[in-house]
Amino acid sequence: MQVTLYGAAGDVTGSAYHVQNTRASVLVDFGLYQGGHMADARNRIPLGIPMQSLSGVVLTHGHLDHVGRLPLLAQQGYRGWVYCTEATRELTSLVLHDSAKLQAHDLERDNRKRERAGQPPLDPLYSGADVEAILGRVRTVAYRRPVEVAPGMQARWLEAGHMLGSASIELTVAENGERRVVVFSGDLGPQDAPILQDAEPVSRADLVFLESTYGDRDHRPLPETVREFQDIVRSVVDRRGKILVPTFAIGRTQQIFYHLAVAFREGALKKFPVYLDSPMAFEATRIYLHHPELMDEEFQALQRGHPILEDLNTVHATASPEESRTLNTIAGPCLIMAGSGMCNGGRILHHLKYNLWRPETAVLIVGFQAAGTLGRELVEGRPTVRIFGEPIAVRASVHTLGGFSAHAGQTDLLRWFGAMAASRPRVVLCHGEDPARQALAAKLREQYKIEATLPGLGESVTL
Ligand SMILES: [Zn+2]
Repeated sequence: MQVTLYGAAGDVTGSAYHVQNTRASVLVDFGLYQGGHMADARNRIPLGIPMQSLSGVVLTHGHLDHVGRLPLLAQQGYRGWVYCTEATRELTSLVLHDSAKLQAHDLERDNRKRERAGQPPLDPLYSGADVEAILGRVRTVAYRRPVEVAPGMQARWLEAGHMLGSASIELTVAENGERRVVVFSGDLGPQDAPILQDAEPVSRADLVFLESTYGDRDHRPLPETVREFQDIVRSVVDRRGKILVPTFAIGRTQQIFYHLAVAFREGALKKFPVYLDSPMAFEATRIYLHHPELMDEEFQALQRGHPILEDLNTVHATASPEESRTLNTIAGPCLIMAGSGMCNGGRILHHLKYNLWRPETAVLIVGFQAAGTLGRELVEGRPTVRIFGEPIAVRASVHTLGGFSAHAGQTDLLRWFGAMAASRPRVVLCHGEDPARQALAAKLREQYKIEATLPGLGESVTL
């Protein structure tokens, strides 16, 4: 059996693993590369996977960097099934439709430039029709129940605690009378994060692909982060500034809502205007609210007190780009959540352009910022950044609230792995930049005497 990495090898986007044995092959996730100048080109490189030999596709969760290239499969004639949890199906539909729309929009602009430069126009990576075609191939699965996803390959989805519907996938592969277990951690959530249930550990594996986004550090404890969040919000509201929160639509947005709701309910913060400037995040929030069965006990107890939406009655959702632009002229205090989460596109850019140079503004960084993104430049404390080609001074305060991360820190990653350590699996570290996975590899060596593999793009691991 062989597993080839077609993404997230030494970085955190483009997750894709091709599992092959003598009888069948399965793709685990097929995410889009994001950020950095190589991303577009990498998304366009055709894969070496012949579609007729691909028996099934399994998805860990619905983030774009795990599902964003799926429509390419439909384009290349894939007619098999795509298996995922029900919540992942709903979120994947939202994410892929948005992605096709965004690409069409960006392409229009790029093609105008190409035309002026005398170059032929480019085709979009995929269209809305490709999105519909692949969504038509989706079959939903229940957590924990084994499903035959290819001849001789059985998959089980286990809670990963990272976003609604997220899972680690345990793949049991039968070959030459032997059964091997390959586990894909998927993105793992931190222990005790709000809203979702905690990641469920796996007790045995022959081979594990372990994410390592934060393999080199632990986040600040959540209660400290919540206090810090409330302190920042309170002081910016006092100085009548704007709080800008670049968020991905799915996960962070709902978590920020949760912390605001609790603070408003307990009186830790006085209510003030909050703008959700992302139609997609609005939709994602609706999907979250449709899945109370996936929420943790804390969230359910909160809902039993009174509906959480009553605490959030100062939240306004802005639908159109025109409404979004009116936020440039309103006075603070207010909090604006908008995408993209790494500030490499989306509505957050014009909020940053209009407010970054004002000292009363605060920017709250609540998610991972990949190398090459504007978000990373802000985290690194650049005094000036370029937005829409214009230099903008950074006079706002920039705060990184790592404790709100949707990813497990080093200790949680090691704890999750600890549950299967006794079975002595071969460990492959993926979905992390090199310093992070090297640090995690050192910890695995120290604590478990296990030598982890750190493959590059296109490399295979043979079992
Ligand atoms: Zn994710």
